Amino acid sequence: MLDLQGRNINKLRISVSEACNMACSYCVTGINEHQVAPDQLPMQDLLKLATLLHRHAGIEKIRITGGEPLLYRELVPFVEGLSESGLEDIGMTSNGLLLARSVPSLAKAGLKHINLSLDSLQPERFRKMGRAGSLRSTLDGIDASLEAGLRLKINMVVVKGENEDEVADVLEFGIARGIEVRFLELMRMGPLYQNGDFKLVTMEEMLNSIRERFSVTTAQADEDSTSQRFWVPGGYFGIIPNESAPFCSTCSRLRLTSNGKLIGCLSNPIETSIRHLLDHHDPEMELKSLVMESVSYKKSQFTGSDLVMSKVGG
Ligand code: SAM
Repeated sequence: MLDLQGRNINKLRISVSEACNMACSYCVTGINEHQVAPDQLPMQDLLKLATLLHRHAGIEKIRITGGEPLLYRELVPFVEGLSESGLEDIGMTSNGLLLARSVPSLAKAGLKHINLSLDSLQPERFRKMGRAGSLRSTLDGIDASLEAGLRLKINMVVVKGENEDEVADVLEFGIARGIEVRFLELMRMGPLYQNGDFKLVTMEEMLNSIRERFSVTTAQADEDSTSQRFWVPGGYFGIIPNESAPFCSTCSRLRLTSNGKLIGCLSNPIETSIRHLLDHHDPEMELKSLVMESVSYKKSQFTGSDLVMSKVGG
């Protein structure tokens, strides 16, 4: 669907559950903040809303996220249902801790690609930044996904004083495995909103540290891509300059929470509930109008907000 600014809103992120098995310090203040929403929809209802958005509101690409989607018991039937509804572009964002054992069934169900969060290649630091988890499990998940033939990207959130010295290491790790790495600038979301201690590493600083090891060339990114793309001998990488060069003017994303609410903008997270449409026998017109309402909340400038990312999955 085209919004009033002419943006083609065709990507949907679905947070299937707010529960997570990590508690990254830039995402939440502690592990207890990750709670399943009390009014979380049953899987079949969430699937129905996603299907309606595909059929009537121009959604073509789905990214399943959370919380941690691999904790969602009905993830495989959920992916199957999305596939059966005709959606071909189904991806997932995950920390990969539980990936190794579930990747074959997810691939069979129709999952095509995974963005895997990996903030450090040092076991202790990995655990410190995520307040839980083991690096070994995530690395096993990466190997299993490659074996299953899934397309993989690595997402690394770069935090000053915590992991910025590993930018070139993670890039090298990705290149050795044919995986494109994307470095994320920290966003002023959730606990970081209006927090004086904002440990931003800018795109320019990341590039400088990569240039110490590689010769970097600017490359072409997709028009609606959130990342700026670069090439080094051996492969491509991206940087998502969330703070230093936000991409709001080309944002084609819509988000659906686990309790059936649309959120059109991270900086202006007004919720538009569509769960009542589950009971409508002909929801098309009202759905279209609610989608337009939700995307009308998109701001032209990223400001951040107190929205906790696990509610919308990044
Ligand atoms: N549990 C999954 C994972 O770890 O990938 C999916 C949910 S997580 C909220 C999705 C993405 O949001 C991750 O790549 C995470 O690093 C990113 N994220 C969360 N808070 C962020 C922040 N303040 N700034 C930048 N990225 C953030």
